[in-house]
Amino acid sequence: MMSQKSGAVKALTGGIAHLFKQNKITHVNGFGKITGSNEVTATASDGSQQVINTKNILIATGSEVTPFPGIQIDEESVVSSTGALSLKKVPEELIVIGAGVIGVELGSVWQRLGAKVTAVEFLGHVGGMGIDMEISKNFQRILQKQGMKFKLGTKVMGATKRPDGLIDVAVEAAAGGKSETLTCDVLLVCIGRRPFTQNLGLESVGIELDNRGRIPINNRFQTKVPSTVPERLPHF
Ligand SMILES: Cc1cc2nc3c(=O)[nH]c(=O)nc-3n(C[C@H](O)[C@H](O)[C@H](O)COP(=O)(O)OP(=O)(O)OC[C@H]3O[C@@H](n4cnc5c(N)ncnc54)[C@H](O)[C@@H]3O)c2cc1C
Repeated sequence: MMSQKSGAVKALTGGIAHLFKQNKITHVNGFGKITGSNEVTATASDGSQQVINTKNILIATGSEVTPFPGIQIDEESVVSSTGALSLKKVPEELIVIGAGVIGVELGSVWQRLGAKVTAVEFLGHVGGMGIDMEISKNFQRILQKQGMKFKLGTKVMGATKRPDGLIDVAVEAAAGGKSETLTCDVLLVCIGRRPFTQNLGLESVGIELDNRGRIPINNRFQTKVPSTVPERLPHF
């Protein structure tokens, strides 16, 4: 399964490289940072830098895993979705923190491969905020039939690694009160994702992030920093 997955990733990323080439898009490998309203500096892994001058800049840096305060992800036994896609063996007991879309998807994969999976969720339903409740209820029923367990209305208070390598996860009723300790060999942390907007040099051009780390934009997805090159947009 893992080599099939690696093959699919390689084919897809290779396909994009091919599309870039075909459409005459220059691919610069490096960490891009905005160093002027019409300038990006790319730093390669060997430290070398390339300054690119441009008419427009499109920020498409994606998202990263929201960390759980006090729980260190090592991508071996305490994993994010990234590590959960590369586990070396099927866990005996997998605890999932967060029964949102990623938690139920990856939890159900490992459940069907033989792990005993328990998902701990703060909300009273699976699938995350905003999901259609009929789908949520039916989906939960289907997953429970497969053997997956849910602890809804429950919050994780912390996790500690024991000397024998197992992980103790302290949980408590979301409304307060009843607490217990669950034990697992693999802990999947998937409480959400946050915008990857740090260290992009945004402040250097006067862009301030909002309180959730997002870049403020107008209804045309433009930041408050205009291109210094006069804009001529085609009419569609
Ligand atoms: C476990 C999981 C399962 C998912 N399943 C689905 C699904 O089934 N269906 C679906 O539609 N969506 C799914 N998604 C969501 C989907 O992956 C995202 O919506 C999508 O990848 C967002 O695309 P993007 O281009 O905005 O960001 P990304 O795909 O995250 O791409 C951002 C890229 O920017 C690069 N980058 C970041 N900062 C810099 C920098 N400073 N310089 C240079 N490069 C940089 C990153 O390395 C990355 O390659 C899933 C996500 C996860 C995590």
